[in-house]
Amino acid sequence: MVADKAVNSTKENHENLDVLSSTRAVIKSALEKLGYSDEVFELLKDPMRMMTVRIPVRMDDGKVKVFTGYRAQHNDAVGPTKGGIRFHPAVTEKEVKALSIWMTLKAGIVDLPYGGAKGGIICDPREMSFRELEALSRGYVRAVSQIVGPTKDIPAPDVFTNSQIMAWMMDEYSKIDEFNSPGFITGKPIVLGGSHGRESATAKGVTIVLNEAAKKRGINVEGARIVIQGFGNAGSYLSKFLYDQGAKIVGISDAYGALHDPDGLDIDYLLDRRDSFGTVTNLFDNTITNKELFELDCDIIIPAAVENQITRDNAQNIKASIIVEAANGPTTAEATQILTDRGVLIVPDVLASAGGVTVSYFEWVQNNQGYYWSEDEIDEKLHEIMISSFNTIYHTAETRKIDMRLAAYMVGVRKTAEAARFRGWV
Ligand code: GLU
Repeated sequence: MVADKAVNSTKENHENLDVLSSTRAVIKSALEKLGYSDEVFELLKDPMRMMTVRIPVRMDDGKVKVFTGYRAQHNDAVGPTKGGIRFHPAVTEKEVKALSIWMTLKAGIVDLPYGGAKGGIICDPREMSFRELEALSRGYVRAVSQIVGPTKDIPAPDVFTNSQIMAWMMDEYSKIDEFNSPGFITGKPIVLGGSHGRESATAKGVTIVLNEAAKKRGINVEGARIVIQGFGNAGSYLSKFLYDQGAKIVGISDAYGALHDPDGLDIDYLLDRRDSFGTVTNLFDNTITNKELFELDCDIIIPAAVENQITRDNAQNIKASIIVEAANGPTTAEATQILTDRGVLIVPDVLASAGGVTVSYFEWVQNNQGYYWSEDEIDEKLHEIMISSFNTIYHTAETRKIDMRLAAYMVGVRKTAEAARFRGWV
């Protein structure tokens, strides 16, 4: 009895780290503020389709390992669904569902003709050979081939997936489709119909909104002290863009630890030494913990890793006045409240990281028309979209006296809600 009580009270006191239920709560408030009925919430609180697949792969040791994968398609009222595929040991069904909802919001915020989707495979690519990864990537495409396609659902890279994986997937789908289908997937190598600027697009989008947010808070990015959690695709390009702009990157981290230098780290040196998964801290002795990283003296923090990193346990100790979320779901609802009460400006994930899907859209358009744009054209279009999206959401937050996350959800969910209503679904 006594033990049960103890377990229950720990549960009660435990912060809600379930990304799906916290996302639903914000969607509910956003729809209420927009004046939509409960029926719209019922429609949008879950993906319209969720597929679970089992993928057998013969490993290098001769044994077969069966991997579990998912594809969640949130809502296709606006158009085909779109979103990345992550390869990570911590992938769960709930996480993939929440990630698919966030993709709907991103597409709504930057006004793309898409709904959201997301895929994930439970695996650790850091411990797999190139051959095993290829077999897994091709197996996943075969398993989900009925529900994806250039006019149905268009995948892309996400955590621990890259242009090589997209190339294998595109090749596998082209076999099933019996002709070359570059528009099936985005984030491909340039020679296979990839777009200029796609690889660095998420980081570029984050850099653009970070500069806008800094202006609002009177912070000069040149010379500002910035902490970046994560040194993968987003984190590494971000550190380079901001370092080249003259910011001091005072802390970075990977999955194994963090590095700190109050005078600014030598980013070019670290980029030269990181491996393809963004690991670099293992080369140094004087590392700090992730907890210490978030508590460093700095002006801006960019979480660019995974979910639930800023929680009620560390939100109080954060010294930065701006947080720009490059990762999906890095800040919990409770932490958002604590930080907002303390006057910290949070530029939410669904806005800050929407540069990736924006350039994915450009890639898909180029594939469909067979005519390709220069890097400058892509950059210019991305800039325009990110700046106007930031301003719309900042303005919504100011006029409605709400935080930027709720404002972003309001802007992001509106298009899908309206499309569903016009179609007569709700
Ligand atoms: N995985 C990226 C994201 O979370 C990009 C998705 C895409 O390009 O479709 O936004």
